[in-house]
Amino acid sequence: MEEMDAVVVGAGVVGLAVARALALAGREVLVLDAAEGIGTETSSRNSEVIHAGIYYPAGSLMARCCVEGKKRLYAFCREHGVPFNNCGKLIVATNEEEAGRLDSIRQRAAANGVDDLRPLTAAEAQAMEPELRCTAALLSPSTGIIDSHAYMLALQGEAEAHGAMFVFHAPVEGGRVTEGGIEIRVGGAEPMELRCRLLVNSAGLHAPKLARSLVGMPEAHVPTAYYAKGNYFTLTGRTPFSRLIYPVPVPGGLGTHVTIDMQGRVRFGPDVEWVERLDYAVDPRRGDSFYAAIRRYWPGLPDGALAPGYSGIRPKIVPPGAPAQDFVVQGEAVHGIPGLVNLFGIESPGLTASLALADQVLKAVTPRALAA
Ligand SMILES: Cc1cc2nc3c(=O)[nH]c(=O)nc-3n(C[C@H](O)[C@H](O)[C@H](O)COP(=O)(O)OP(=O)(O)OC[C@H]3O[C@@H](n4cnc5c(N)ncnc54)[C@H](O)[C@@H]3O)c2cc1C
Repeated sequence: MEEMDAVVVGAGVVGLAVARALALAGREVLVLDAAEGIGTETSSRNSEVIHAGIYYPAGSLMARCCVEGKKRLYAFCREHGVPFNNCGKLIVATNEEEAGRLDSIRQRAAANGVDDLRPLTAAEAQAMEPELRCTAALLSPSTGIIDSHAYMLALQGEAEAHGAMFVFHAPVEGGRVTEGGIEIRVGGAEPMELRCRLLVNSAGLHAPKLARSLVGMPEAHVPTAYYAKGNYFTLTGRTPFSRLIYPVPVPGGLGTHVTIDMQGRVRFGPDVEWVERLDYAVDPRRGDSFYAAIRRYWPGLPDGALAPGYSGIRPKIVPPGAPAQDFVVQGEAVHGIPGLVNLFGIESPGLTASLALADQVLKAVTPRALAA
């Protein structure tokens, strides 16, 4: 059986950030991914927004990692030449009831350390974005957009420069916890068995299944996976806005918002559709509800301007209607297994938070598993 120091399962943005952090810390790192390359699942199916850290409950891991991760992500992009645009965003109210909620959004943001939100009158917001219709707005200057694939390539490059190895087409099918470390079975074209001192389960939507497949991992600490699909529709024609436009949030998601990618293309979404299976097809009929939602703040949206785009699936660990989940970075202190860290429920803002989440993983690793 092959022996390894640290194995990271999953080469999405979070697994890549973890692999980089471990490699920088001097660990011998192997990254295994079932797919043909990096970032083929949720990490390439999102809004590519650098979130400010506004909405999450104060003190939650999401809030802390988002605010910290945002600062570090902007710095990383500058240092590594990753394309980004700190374009800012407007949170827009379209009636008096929503306008009344803007203040509580601002207070929550301040509790998270995001104290730069600026209240705007309708006239001020419309002066910034002439096609917008709203009754009031909040400007978030620290929100931005990023070329997420370039970011992932930079993480992979830095991890490799510090000795990390990557193997693709390498699905981890199961394993067991032993006295001498964690043994895993890797399938694919070249099946192998490995024993490692540290195993980081960063398998995204599949993380609960992977944890459950490890003999010795207590079932009570493995959450049930739920899937909340988010569909996007792209805008054909000219770009009406120069910054991101978000409605006041709706339960389960941030509402049908405007995001812009680094090429200036506009897309709307994601909505919230609870699904049983991982199916990324976008049902064109869902576009009908998009028109109504978007026209509340952009009445000028022309008929027929939306085309089905793509979808991503949120790795939920709570069922529909349950209070919002937090990120879970689960180490020995919770499940009792030295050298195993599970990442569960890493939905938005996981891209923004990735560098800070990697630090959380390092903190969750117990000294026994760290001793090389
Ligand atoms: C609709 C949507 C919009 C979002 N928008 C934003 C946003 O604007 N800003 C933001 O900050 N965040 C956003 N997010 C969140 C962000 O995209 C995720 O938090 C992040 O991509 C999660 O990365 P990951 O590495 O945990 O998972 P993934 O990217 O899913 O990577 C998991 C990897 O594990 C591999 N894998 C799975 N099982 C196995 C196995 N058994 N063996 C080997 N490999 C395996 C998969 O092939 C995959 O490559 C959004 C998410 C969604 C769904």
